[in-house]
This record gives sequence, C-alpha cells and structure tokens, in this order.
Amino acid sequence: MTEKNNRSNMESVPHPIDGDKGATDVGPRDVVRDKQNPDMFISPRTDSGTVDNLKFSFSDTHRRMEHGGWSREVTIRELPVSDTLAAVNMRLTPGGVRELHWHKEAEWAYMLDGRARITAIDGKGRSFIDDVEEGDLWYFPSGIPHSIVGLEEGAEFILVFDDGRFSENSTFSISDWFAHTPKDVLAKNFGVNESAFDHIPDGERYMYQGKVPGPIESEKPHDLNEPVPNPFSFKLLEETPIKTNGGQVRIADSNNFKASTTIASALVEVEPGGVRELHWHPNEAEWQYYIQGEARMTVFGAEGHARTFNYREGDVGYVPFMFGHYVENTGDEPLIFLEMFRSDHFDDISLNQWMSQTPPEFVKEHLHVDDDFMNKALHNDKRPNVKYKYSGYRGD
Ligand code: MN
Ligand code: MN
Repeated sequence: MTEKNNRSNMESVPHPIDGDKGATDVGPRDVVRDKQNPDMFISPRTDSGTVDNLKFSFSDTHRRMEHGGWSREVTIRELPVSDTLAAVNMRLTPGGVRELHWHKEAEWAYMLDGRARITAIDGKGRSFIDDVEEGDLWYFPSGIPHSIVGLEEGAEFILVFDDGRFSENSTFSISDWFAHTPKDVLAKNFGVNESAFDHIPDGERYMYQGKVPGPIESEKPHDLNEPVPNPFSFKLLEETPIKTNGGQVRIADSNNFKASTTIASALVEVEPGGVRELHWHPNEAEWQYYIQGEARMTVFGAEGHARTFNYREGDVGYVPFMFGHYVENTGDEPLIFLEMFRSDHFDDISLNQWMSQTPPEFVKEHLHVDDDFMNKALHNDKRPNVKYKYSGYRGD
C-alpha cells in the first residue's frame, strides 16, 4: 500500500492495516489524533529502529493563566530530546504586561500577531525601546533585563531560549526582588524613606493587566542613554526571501541580525506539493515551530534508523544533531515553519548539491543510478545573488 493510499483511507475511521501487516484497532483510541498523524498511524515501510520522540504540541501543555494574558512552554521537560532550545508561546492583552525581568538564557522571539512594546538595557547602560509587529524578531542576550507590553491590538509571540532547561516560571523579576529585599536596604539604595515601599507587591507579579502605552516617543525616559549599538529587534519580513521552485526562506542570524549571537533562524515556506529537500545541518540540532499547514518529516539517524512524524500548526519538532531530514508539505495550503539553531549562523548541506559536486561515475557506482538520473536530478544551484548558501526545495 502506498503512502497516498494511507492518507485517503483517513477519510473514514482508519485501521492500522498496511497490506498484509497490522490489524484492526478496536480502541481505546483517539480517532481525531489518529487521522492527524497518518504517517505515524501507519509508518512508511522505510521507517526502522528506535528514534527519540521528536514532536510535542503546544496543545498538550499547561497554560499559565494570568491577568493580562497567558503563557505555555515546551522545554526539555515536555520534549526530552531538546536540550539545545526551549520555547514559550505567550499572549498579552492590550496593555497586558510581562513584567521587567531577566534570566540566564538568551531570548529570541518571533511576533505571530498584533503589536508589542519591548524595553531593555545592555551591560553598559545603553538603552533599547521599540515597538514590534507581526513578523518582527527580537533577541535579548543572556542576563539583559527586558519587558514586553501588548499595544492596542494585543500581541502573541513565540519565545525561543538557548537552553532546553529554561522555564518561564523561574526568571528574575523586579517585583520578586523588591519583595525579598529588606525595606531599610531599599530605602538606603534609592535614597528615600522606607514609606516609599509601603505598597510594593508582596511577591512576583510575572504578568499583569496594565494600561495600553501611548506613542513611543511620549513614553521614553527624559534622560535616555545612547542606544545599544546593535538593535535587539529585527524586521525579518523586510529581508528579501530566497526563492526556489517549491517555496522560499528568510534567514536571520548574526550576519544580518547582529545582536542574535547564539540563535540562528529560518522562516521557511513550502508550497503545496513541495518539499524542503533532503539535507542536514553541520553546526547544530534543529528545533522547529510549525506556524501554518501540515507536514511530514522523516529523520535519518544512521545504522538504519529512521522515523517519520506528522506536524501541524502549533507543533514543536526537533532534528537531533547531524540527522538527515526532509520536510514535506502534505496539506493544501502553504506550509510555514521556523527552523531554529543554537548557533551564531545558519548552515546546511544539501544532499543534491553534495552529489552534484562529486565525480558522477563515483555517485553512479555508489547508488546504482543511471545517466538519466544524473542529468535530470542533480544540478548545482550556485545562486550567486544569494548571500547565504541555502539548499533549495523541490516541487512536484
Ligand atoms: Mn524574558
Ligand atoms: Mn533542516
């Protein structure tokens, strides 16, 4: 039975029967999820061996509910294979505040919806205040204090941290510090009377409902220091995408987004019928966030190990370091996802390009392929106008 037959069988209540293998599934079962995961329900016969779980949906996480918004996270606790990166999905209401705080891990963000105002200072006291909107990124280096406020539209974003062990529930918050410092010390530190602190919160606020801020110029402190030399925000959608015959990609790493020294990212769009071609990354494991559409990915882990996963909107995916993989659009709409790396740069190696740069007779000898394959399939996409080397996509 072919993959396509598997998928069309998903119309009714499917059973895990693949030709002469398998048997009916009389339950208990979750038919909705079975149908969402056709390549896990009946794996391609090329799958083999034990591979770590490489998928976790934000729909399966605990949501922290607060005045002013909510947050939920996928960390090494939810997806144990992901020791490099962790993520938080957060929504802020108009005027919703993620309070002034800092943490050990660097924080990268992609704005999914709405607008927000972000603030920070760096270790030399240089200032940063900016308004961000859908498609914008930010990056706060390790230890840099920052805040986020939803503007008139509110805001939703995905935060990515450069350590899988991060938790949004254990950050250093300004209210928490005030609550746990003797008031006579606070008075001495700020040169005021202790009564100034009669009404401070008695613990961490984390998030709260505040007022929608006014125009950015009207709200800046009067004695603002010089700005940080490399802005902590970045307009990803203003980057010219690298277009291929099956989709496009925008890359942001420390080459163009100078501040982002520990996290590299690619916003990938694959057209229906297209596939992000077979490749691997020589620098780091890949962490993924699926923004739109449906996909399947098979990872190849050497020693005959391979496993296929299905992904959809709101899923986190992962590719262990060096594992070969493709990402295929299996839906009817463009597939949009983030490829993220704990690295200062994006890098990948295309199987196709590798083969095209190897003596042809040698390739034929390895794989028992003929001249027809060599002529049709292999071509070197040099893309001299492209700043980054990036493997292409293959459409149908
Ligand atoms: Mn933070
Ligand atoms: Mn990849």
